[in-house]
Amino acid sequence: MRMPKTIIIATRNAHKTAEIRQMLGEEWQVKDANDFTDWPIVEETGETFLANATLKAVAISLVHEGIVLADDSGLCVDFLDGAPGVWSSSYGGEEGNHAKNNARLLAEMQGVAQRGGYFSCTMVLAQQGEVLAHFEGRCTGRILTTASGGHGFGYDPLFAPHGYDQSFADLGSEVKNTLSHRGAALKKVMAWLSNK
Ligand code: IMP
Repeated sequence: MRMPKTIIIATRNAHKTAEIRQMLGEEWQVKDANDFTDWPIVEETGETFLANATLKAVAISLVHEGIVLADDSGLCVDFLDGAPGVWSSSYGGEEGNHAKNNARLLAEMQGVAQRGGYFSCTMVLAQQGEVLAHFEGRCTGRILTTASGGHGFGYDPLFAPHGYDQSFADLGSEVKNTLSHRGAALKKVMAWLSNK
């Protein structure tokens, strides 16, 4: 049996890791902050997904050996000029509070007919403090008027991908992974890694 290859995901977000692990399959051993005791706090001070993903990938790769993959992602809503964007995780006023984030998004979009937007995911690969490559994946869709579904995380209950009436949270991770910004970015990462 072949030994799995190892990749470290520069995140404390277990949902992101779970999606990446499911997409990579058994060939990869996927680790994240939960597998280590020495995990630095990385301030996400950048103003772009690329800047923040780079901060995370570089910082973790300076502390842990091997290839590190950082994912910085968010929801960009056309009517809101791209907000919440890079600030998706604290849009409701409290870092990582998905209920508050969704409540604010619903309030901002109340009565708005123009509901288009997209999820963006930038992935940065780094090793020993050096950036190896970066990739972006996007998923376009629309913001629903009420939350729906019990799967996923973050804005999933409020986002219906293009061509679907159900939200990501209705569709579940298997379908989400085939359509999502994270899935699209990860495909590019894997193509790049397989050429190395
Ligand atoms: P990050 O950890 O700084 O990249 O922030 C990501 C934030 O964007 C999350 O906390 C969610 O609010 C949002 N987000 C990113 N990807 C997804 C997704 O796949 N579904 C739902 N929300 C997401």
